[in-house]
Amino acid sequence: MDRSCDQVTLYGTLSSADAYRIRDFLQRSTVQFEWVELSSDMEARREALVDGIDDPRLPVCVFPDGSRLEAPTLQQVAAKLGWIAPPRYAEYDLSIYGAGPAGLSAAVYAASEGLRTVVIEREAVGGQAGTSSRIENYLGFPRGISGAELAERARQQAVAFGAEILKVREGVGAEFYPGRMVGHLADGGRIVSRANICATGAQYRRLALPGEEQLCGAGLFYGAGASEAALCRGEDVYIVGGGNSAGQAVMHFAAYARSVTLLVRGAQLADSVSQYLIDRIAATPNVTVRTRCQITELHGDGRLEAITITAADGTSEIVRTGRLFVCIGAVPNTQGWGERIGIALDERGFVLTGADLMPDGRRPEGWTLDRDPLFLETNIPGNFAAGDVRHGSIKRVAAAVGEGAMAVRLVHDYLARL
Ligand SMILES: Cc1cc2nc3c(=O)[nH]c(=O)nc-3n(C[C@H](O)[C@H](O)[C@H](O)COP(=O)(O)OP(=O)(O)OC[C@H]3O[C@@H](n4cnc5c(N)ncnc54)[C@H](O)[C@@H]3O)c2cc1C
Repeated sequence: MDRSCDQVTLYGTLSSADAYRIRDFLQRSTVQFEWVELSSDMEARREALVDGIDDPRLPVCVFPDGSRLEAPTLQQVAAKLGWIAPPRYAEYDLSIYGAGPAGLSAAVYAASEGLRTVVIEREAVGGQAGTSSRIENYLGFPRGISGAELAERARQQAVAFGAEILKVREGVGAEFYPGRMVGHLADGGRIVSRANICATGAQYRRLALPGEEQLCGAGLFYGAGASEAALCRGEDVYIVGGGNSAGQAVMHFAAYARSVTLLVRGAQLADSVSQYLIDRIAATPNVTVRTRCQITELHGDGRLEAITITAADGTSEIVRTGRLFVCIGAVPNTQGWGERIGIALDERGFVLTGADLMPDGRRPEGWTLDRDPLFLETNIPGNFAAGDVRHGSIKRVAAAVGEGAMAVRLVHDYLARL
C-alpha cells in the first residue's frame, strides 16, 4: 500500500512492547510518524512485507528515504534520523546529564553565557514533561502546551545558543579529579568537563505486581501515554494515581476512550492536584473516580486483558481492560551509578545538595574546599544537581527550569574560583 513518504511509518502489533517504545520515542521527539497496526498475517505480509504478525522482524520502521529497519533499537532509529553523532569536543566547560526541563534550561543559560556545553540524554528530549499531553500551568502559555512541544522549543533554543545535545546516550558512571570530571557513557564513550549538572530527574514507580515487566508496553504503560490516547477510541481505560499527572492523563484519555476510570489509593485526589483539573474531572461524563482502592493483580498472556481491583474493605473484582496507565510516585534516576560514583543521596536515592549536606553544620566527608557546598552543589565540588532528582525539589516544570538556570549561575561561581 502507498503511504506518505515524507514521514516515518511504523508497522507492528498492538501487543508489541517494542513497537510501543518506538511510538513513544517518536511522539516525544515530535517526529511525524504514521502508526500502522497489524492485526492479521495477511496484513503483516501486505503492509510490512514480513511473514506474519509473529515475525520477529516486527516492528518495522520505514523512513522517508524508503529505507527500513526491522525490530530496531531506539539507538538505531535515532541514528537513522541523523541524531547520533560523536561529541564535538575533547573537553567541555559544562556537562549536563538529562534533557528534561532542568537540563534544557541549564543548557540554554550555560550556552548563552558562553560556556562550552554538552547535554547527554538517554532517551528523548523533554523528560517527564515531554510525556505530558498538556501542561497548563507553565508561565506564558495561557492555553497550555504539549510537553513534547515545550521540550522541542527548549531544545531548539539550547542548540541555537550552541549547546550540543547527545541523544539516546546514557551516563552510567564518572571519575572525579580536581577541576575535571570524566563521565562514562553506556556505549563506552567518555565526556570530559570542568563542571557538571546532574538533571536526571525521576520516573514513575512500578506497581510491584507479578507479570508487570512482561505486560509493560503491551497494555500496561507508565506515565500519561501521550502517544496512546488516540489508539484508545471506544475502549475502557484505567489510570492509577492520585496526583497531577494522573489527573492530566484522565482528561487526555477522556477525549478518546469510551470510559476512563481513575483508581486512587487514598480517600481523595492528592492535595497537590490543581483545582482546575479536579473541576474538569468532576465535569467529564465518561470519567469515574474510584477512591480507597488499588490494583492487586494483572491478568493477560503477552498482553494486558484484565486487572483485579481491591477496595480498602478487602473486596475484590476483576475488570476487563486492555489499557492501564500507571502514574504513581516517582523514584529518582540515580539507580546504578549514584552510590558507585560517591555522590551523597538521601534514603530514597535523591541527590543531596547545599545545606542538606550539612545537617549538623559540618561539611560533607571528603570535602576538600575551604568553603561550604554552594546551594545546588553536591558533595563533589563542581557537581551540581537540579530538578526532580534533587532532594527536596518541587516537582514542577517551572521549578526544574528555575533550578537549571540557578545551577548555571553557581557553575560560573565555581569555575571562577578554580
Ligand atoms: C505525565 C506528567 C505530567 C506532568 N505535568 C506537569 C504539569 O502540568 N505542570 C508541572 O509543572 N509539572 C508537571 N509534571 C512534572 C514535571 O514534568 C517534572 O517536575 C519535570 O519534568 C522535572 O524536570 P527534570 O528536568 O528535573 O526531570 P525529568 O523531566 O525527569 O528529566 C530527566 C531526564 O534525564 C534523563 N536521564 C535519566 N537518567 C539519565 C542518565 N543516566 N543519562 C542521561 N540521561 C538520563 C531522562 O531520560 C529524562 O529525559 C508532569 C510530570 C508527568 C510525568
